[in-house]
Amino acid sequence: MLNERLYGCRVCGLIQDSAPWGLDGRSPSFDICPCCGVEFGYEDATLVSILVFRQKWLEDGAPWWDSELKPGGWDLALQLESVPPEYL
Ligand SMILES: [Zn+2]
Repeated sequence: MLNERLYGCRVCGLIQDSAPWGLDGRSPSFDICPCCGVEFGYEDATLVSILVFRQKWLEDGAPWWDSELKPGGWDLALQLESVPPEYL
């Protein structure tokens, strides 16, 4: 079963192929989110850094880090619903 708390990006909510912080929630992969460009384990390590990163990303117009992966009809608001609630 898909677990958004484990697989959703803490910044943008994009569901990742592998858990950004590992299945224990404490083992960051240091991969880059293809949507917001956060590095798991770095800019998403604290609530403050998450809020700052998300704010800047939204102010920039929520660009995709890897624009080739941006789905047609992408819905930012819908995706943000997958941000684990403790990181909003
Ligand atoms: Zn992201």
